[in-house]
Amino acid sequence: MRRILTAIAAFAIFMTLPGISAFAQTRDEKAEAKLRAKAEKIHKSVITLDTHNDISTRNFTLERNYTQDLDTQVNLPKMRKGGLDVSWMIVYTGQGPLTEAGYAAAYKNAIDKFDAIHRLTEKIAPDQIGLALTSNDVRRLVKEGKLVAMIGVENGYPIGTDLSRIKEFADRGARYMSLAHNGHSQLADSNTGEADGVWLNNGLSDLGKKAIAEMNKWGIMIDLSHPSKQSNLQAIALSKAPVIASHSGARALCDHSRNLDDEQLEAIRKNGGVVQAVAFRSYVNKEKSTLRSAKQAEIMKELAAKEGFTQLSRAEIMKMPEATARHISRKCRPFARRTRPSSASVSRTSLRM
Ligand SMILES: [Zn+2]
Repeated sequence: MRRILTAIAAFAIFMTLPGISAFAQTRDEKAEAKLRAKAEKIHKSVITLDTHNDISTRNFTLERNYTQDLDTQVNLPKMRKGGLDVSWMIVYTGQGPLTEAGYAAAYKNAIDKFDAIHRLTEKIAPDQIGLALTSNDVRRLVKEGKLVAMIGVENGYPIGTDLSRIKEFADRGARYMSLAHNGHSQLADSNTGEADGVWLNNGLSDLGKKAIAEMNKWGIMIDLSHPSKQSNLQAIALSKAPVIASHSGARALCDHSRNLDDEQLEAIRKNGGVVQAVAFRSYVNKEKSTLRSAKQAEIMKELAAKEGFTQLSRAEIMKMPEATARHISRKCRPFARRTRPSSASVSRTSLRM
């Protein structure tokens, strides 16, 4: 699996700089065309993977699903069009309370997402996309002309304190898992601890350390995107297998706690791991992203005054019953869209990377 992961990270960013003369422009254009042709050739010749695609299970029903060109960043028509072979679909659970009730709700959410991905590959579109459990599965499916789904688990919170669930998740198709998301889990501290300097485990908890051994045992890669630096360094030291960061940036280029600093990158290199870059705006350019968010908030305030609605904070919405919160965020969506600089479609679920 790692070989494939290593083979793909081919990202090209094309920038058009204002030319100082018509001649320079032509030369730039020629160079860009050449670079683009080279990038496209590489893109077509390798098996391409996107290692982190968030999903919403409402897009995995018989009536509404990824065989349609939905308003999501990834779906089957878009994969075909963009030449993406493998989509790692994500079993994501937001961090909640570290209680039995919290673990039970998280587990239910995770199973719902596992089931949705199996539904797509087994009932909705098995003729178009298959679930891969190994790198050989990936090669076979690509050879058959099919698209490929793989499963990553974002946040180990749903395993609760029951380590046997790691094997269960492996049996359900999970091939990577992160031990925390935003907020400390029972397994590991999160990068978000940097905001207030409050840590729960000082890296991995004892349970988290045992989880690493279980993941190694059952073939689930350890994903370093989201846990804290200490958690990550400890995980790398403990893991007997190479690790990955499924969607992370470089902290030396953008100082965000979600990004990996040079010490972590060096440790991943020594471990033989792979980092897949993420283009989420606040991890690429924090300053620009903060300015943009402030402007969006300003536009939203103007809209609220004009259209006569009251703005609620995220914390206020989170306290509401789930159905009400969902109803409100659905009603809010068209207004949120109007605060964006372009009409380009942005997947709603991508907004919390
Ligand atoms: Zn994420």
